[in-house]
Amino acid sequence: MNESIERRIERLQAGGIIDMHFDLPMDLYEKRGRRDVLETEFLPEFQAGNISVLGAAIYIEDRYLPQNGLRVALDQIARLYAETAASRRFAICKNYREIQDSGEAGKIALVITMEGVEPLGTDLNQLRVFYELGVRAIGLTHARTNSAGHGGIFAPSGSPAEGLTPFGREVAHECEALGVIIDLAHINPAGFEEILSITTKPPIVSHTNVRRYYNIERNISDEQIRMVGERGGVIGVNSILVSPREEESTLDHYIDHIEHIAELIGIDSVGIGFDFFEFIFRQWPESRQKELAAKFTKPHFIPDLTNHSHARNLTRRLIERGFSDADVEKILRRNWLRIFKELL
Ligand SMILES: [Zn+2]
Repeated sequence: MNESIERRIERLQAGGIIDMHFDLPMDLYEKRGRRDVLETEFLPEFQAGNISVLGAAIYIEDRYLPQNGLRVALDQIARLYAETAASRRFAICKNYREIQDSGEAGKIALVITMEGVEPLGTDLNQLRVFYELGVRAIGLTHARTNSAGHGGIFAPSGSPAEGLTPFGREVAHECEALGVIIDLAHINPAGFEEILSITTKPPIVSHTNVRRYYNIERNISDEQIRMVGERGGVIGVNSILVSPREEESTLDHYIDHIEHIAELIGIDSVGIGFDFFEFIFRQWPESRQKELAAKFTKPHFIPDLTNHSHARNLTRRLIERGFSDADVEKILRRNWLRIFKELL
């Protein structure tokens, strides 16, 4: 049996790749004057990378807050539905069955997620509305403070010491009651712990990196990794915060993050949350790029892992580094599928 590496990549990717964090709705919203953006600008890369499921994250930029958070979130969802309706290649999926059907029909499943509950304001009823619209995973905060809690900052320490607000606790309870997956990406350490103490279902961390290699609150400590593992959750590895140093921001170091999580809590708890952002970053004027670097950190994009067509590079490198077929398939899709099956 001398299967070539190309054949092996082909075979492992054939069942699809799941990326649980992509800022797609925000880009569709900014391009709302155009049509068929999903088909013309995104589909070729998704197909080249065998992408089968995407977490499409509603995120509201500071410039729309506080007045227009709800409106922009609804418009982002409207663009997702309109663009999906105009294409035969995508389906918005709200449960495991729909995700499976989508795959069997050769479509890419979009699972709508929310990064920061700013669109809800302080109104729990809005959570029900977004659930009905298809939102199936929610991270309570981005890096900032909102009505639910505080985000972890882009420094080793310094975010507020307190956890969730009373509203944040209500959101966490209501997510579990409705069947919305709770996403622990971005929340500050106190909020992270509090969410786990008041919920019972497996949590996810849709897109993060390990603090061992990039020590900022926004990333996840060994202790936090163990907490997710104990609850049977899954952690998606982010491609843009693998190292504070540009020269260390490589595909191999991305895999080091996967390995570190697998060593701590097992291969069943690690997946992908690429957070590809370069395509948005390069649309910005230099002044805005600098603003982002000042507010958070300068993102170091991995040259051969910058968009979804590069997923093949990851599969190849996992094989070269000795991951078994079964382990590669768990990282690429099976672990996220288990979560969907269990929670959606
Ligand atoms: Zn994020």
